[in-house]
Amino acid sequence: ERLDQGLSKTKESVLKKLTRVVVGKSKVDDDVLDELEEVLITSDVGVDTTLKIIERIEKRVAKDKFINASELDKILKEEITALLAENALNSSADFEIPQQSKPYVIMVVGVNGVGKTTTIGKLAHKFKSSGKKVVLGAGDTFRAAAIDQLEIWAQRVDVPLIKQKMGSDPASVAYDALSSAKATDADVVIIDTAGRLHNKINLMNELTKIKNVMQKVVPDAPHEILLVLDGSTGQNAFEQAKQFTLATEVNALAITKLDGTAKGGVVIGVSDQFKVPVKYIGIGEGMDDLQPFNREAFVDSLFG
Ligand code: GDP
Repeated sequence: ERLDQGLSKTKESVLKKLTRVVVGKSKVDDDVLDELEEVLITSDVGVDTTLKIIERIEKRVAKDKFINASELDKILKEEITALLAENALNSSADFEIPQQSKPYVIMVVGVNGVGKTTTIGKLAHKFKSSGKKVVLGAGDTFRAAAIDQLEIWAQRVDVPLIKQKMGSDPASVAYDALSSAKATDADVVIIDTAGRLHNKINLMNELTKIKNVMQKVVPDAPHEILLVLDGSTGQNAFEQAKQFTLATEVNALAITKLDGTAKGGVVIGVSDQFKVPVKYIGIGEGMDDLQPFNREAFVDSLFG
């Protein structure tokens, strides 16, 4: 189905590498594990997470004594699923928003070009399709193009966009958007923010100011701080996750552009390393190409 198709490049690459590791081998031994380590690292799982996975498999080998090399993919699949489960890094919610928070406020962060606007548009579409009333806020006031792009999505999805002119205060836009959502009894507000990683202190101050101003309208906002990462950038995604988790309380991840890349391992590594659940994955440019992340489905798609 769609997920399999979206992840096909990563799958192809991982399975090809795994086949090379086990060819001519009868059992999983130290050599196999060394090579497996390399496969995971070159698949952008990240060093720390790779070592954790290898350690888990080592333990299994020590216990079972003999593990057939042909079972390596099955074992890898089980251990990765278990690792993701251990951290509860799963989001089963199918575009659901909690009833008790109205309006539910999502602040979207991430650097330019990762797919922030597209993800906001897709989310607006999903929420609207499930009968929710949605308001968007054009909080990236730094680039005129960001406001224009969001406007196009707002029209396409047919939801209101609250905006001000370029260069205005993002916190003020957020205030307006939340006020409008409250006045119109909206269910969910999604606020874009500028993705400038110019310096950490500025980023932190900017996001803190937006949050504080939001809380004047909705005291417990934002309910969700969604960091958007471009899955095709591999190690850059790790670095961005590091910067943004230091700057603000990121509590959900959206990993985009998994359809065009063999670097899908980043999904496993980033969530494990930063202890933030992957909530959504982007597997295409269209309105319906955003999926709630499900660890079993994800791992099944990778290891077939
Ligand atoms: P922003 O600068 O972070 O707001 O990025 P945009 O939302 O404008 O997206 C940048 C480009 O990435 C656009 O051409 C999008 O169509 C594309 N894009 C976003 N998400 C995905 C995805 O999941 N898959 C693919 N293939 N392209 C995507």
